[in-house]
Amino acid sequence: MTAASVSNFVLRAHLVWWDDDPFFTGQSVRRSLEDGALACASDGRIAWVGEASALPTEFADWPVVDRRDGMVLPGFVDAHLHFPQTAIIGAYGTDLLAWLETHTFPEESRFGDCAHAETIAAIFADELLAVGVTSACVFSTIHPVALKALAAAFNQRGMGLLSGKTAMDRNAIPALQDSPQSAYDDAKALLLDLQPRYERFGYVVTPRFAITSTEAQLELCGALHAEFPETRMQTHINESAREIATIKELFPADESYLAVYDRFGLVTDRSLFAHGIHSTPAELERMADAGAAVVHCPTSNTFLGSGLFNPGANREAGVAIGLGCDIGGGTAFSPFVTMQEAYKVARFSDQSLTADETFYWHTLGNARVMKTDAEAGSFAAGKWADFVVLESGADNPVAKLRMQRVQSVTDQLFAWQFFAPKVETWTRGVQRT
Ligand SMILES: [Zn+2]
Repeated sequence: MTAASVSNFVLRAHLVWWDDDPFFTGQSVRRSLEDGALACASDGRIAWVGEASALPTEFADWPVVDRRDGMVLPGFVDAHLHFPQTAIIGAYGTDLLAWLETHTFPEESRFGDCAHAETIAAIFADELLAVGVTSACVFSTIHPVALKALAAAFNQRGMGLLSGKTAMDRNAIPALQDSPQSAYDDAKALLLDLQPRYERFGYVVTPRFAITSTEAQLELCGALHAEFPETRMQTHINESAREIATIKELFPADESYLAVYDRFGLVTDRSLFAHGIHSTPAELERMADAGAAVVHCPTSNTFLGSGLFNPGANREAGVAIGLGCDIGGGTAFSPFVTMQEAYKVARFSDQSLTADETFYWHTLGNARVMKTDAEAGSFAAGKWADFVVLESGADNPVAKLRMQRVQSVTDQLFAWQFFAPKVETWTRGVQRT
């Protein structure tokens, strides 16, 4: 019912969301209102949420969108993926560094062309909506036009975007290298242009990783991150053995991979470090102290054979964890596939993630590590009306059989990780798929 897009409406549905991290607080943090009401105002924000029977009289004459046939969750949030790698998902290769050289760098060098960037940005944003993702923290390329195309595509669809121009000034093909100063100048100009223009855009200082940035570039990235306190910082860390060995060669005086970033002011409570598979206890302790987050990208880690992330070790150290599909090292946009793979990977360290844990990560947990939880990730007055309507697919006989065994909301959510439901996606109170 897209008519609801232009006016106030009340969504009636089985509403499910998470108010906190179930790992630390127990499963009571899941909210489940079987006959819930979500009052969505014409400004795209949630005006009220609660039991339908308790709907305040001020919303009583708002038109009703009745979706009691499905379960409604907050729109999914993805904390790490690369829009310019959309065309190379599942490209044959070996490990991370070889895959970057063979597939990623040639593909990313195309994004200086505005028309190409716009075409891929539209496909990328549409695909995210199709799988229920309504906001994300995304890598672009070194090209300002690519980030502009991405920001416009997300804005047009009402989606939330954290992103920045990638900085890389060495160890890549010439077409993909900037300089310390040009990376700083371009980033600042983009930040000042895009943040005022798009309500749901936030700038992310983005050195790709320390292999492709000189010390001079990392220093200016740190300066920009300090100069604009609203910026986040994203990069990669401790993903593969060969990557870590290269870091040791490039930065022999630093005691760890994290110490390199730390030396340039890049380890803060606004930092998102993708992967962190091989982090040492000292690195975990420093990340926890700084309030920095790690973003687990399980389908990428198994595809590239990078290693098996240990969620328990990070949690016990007090490091906040996010979840990302890491397209195109990752192999699927779908949050259900990412959650499924996270479950499988955790089994290798004898841990069994509950559906509450994985769904929390992919909604409020990611919004928290991205510092967008005042706006997204759960249902509360004032947040954007981003939500997904989920219905079990009735056309697959095996999925149908599996759903017949489901006894509870917990069972349902867990099973959906393996038999993804049909997804209908809304952002800012507007139906998009
Ligand atoms: Zn990545």
